[in-house]
Amino acid sequence: MSTQIEVRDLHKYYGKNEVLKGISLKFEKGDVVCVIGPSGSGKSTLLRTLNGLEEATSGEIIVDGFRLTDKNTDINRVRENIGMVFQHFNLFPNMTVLENIVYAPISLKKLNRKEAEEKATDLLDVIGMSEFRDAMPETLSGGQKQRVAIIRALEMDPDVMLFDEPTSALDPEMVGEVLDLMRRIAADGTTMIIVTHEMGFARKVANRVLFTEGGVILEDGTPEQLFDHPQQDRTKEFLDKVL
Ligand code: ADP
Ligand code: MG
Repeated sequence: MSTQIEVRDLHKYYGKNEVLKGISLKFEKGDVVCVIGPSGSGKSTLLRTLNGLEEATSGEIIVDGFRLTDKNTDINRVRENIGMVFQHFNLFPNMTVLENIVYAPISLKKLNRKEAEEKATDLLDVIGMSEFRDAMPETLSGGQKQRVAIIRALEMDPDVMLFDEPTSALDPEMVGEVLDLMRRIAADGTTMIIVTHEMGFARKVANRVLFTEGGVILEDGTPEQLFDHPQQDRTKEFLDKVL
């Protein structure tokens, strides 16, 4: 195994509000980690600092050997390797599905147009959405939008995929199709860090679950350890509410 992401004593303040209070973690290549915890506990902030969307106040983040927290690191190069999927999809509303998918690799000169379109066509085929390649995002269902957002990230061949509550904004009948796609990505060996309230998914697909509370990782273990034998009272309380 080799380390994909290392976080050392990460602190993040918004003004005087300390949102991450000294987080240290190591993720190995191929890890599928679900992050659970109450609202406001710092889950989104943690994900966003991992790909440089938020700047750490102090501490170190090392991705694939690149020190994200070092001023001399080209953060955009690191970010090309980290896909991010948001609760509200964040598709470009003025672009077709195809243009959404090919935009980043073409503008970053990772692929030429022909390569990018071929790859996008293959990925659309994988999710059964080939006929939507020229559709505008607004015409898609929430589940379709989220699956497009996921393959848009995959088009860049990221080593790491970050998901921030990818199914929280979806109607219940669309949650399954998005989780199925995520399960397939996990099976391919991509390192995934997933903030989610889908405990069934976490139990089945993750090899590790983190419970966050008040800006710290309160508990960290396998799904069996965390769900069946939680060590902390706060974890038990939380699980009693959501399970
Ligand atoms: P979670 O994703 O677990 O719900 P967040 O990481 O979104 O938690 O938020 C953690 C804390 O940081 C909350 O108290 C929230 O209000 C605060 N926070 C998040 N983003 C910002 C921001 N951009 N500016 C100021 N405070 C923020
Ligand atoms: Mg959040």
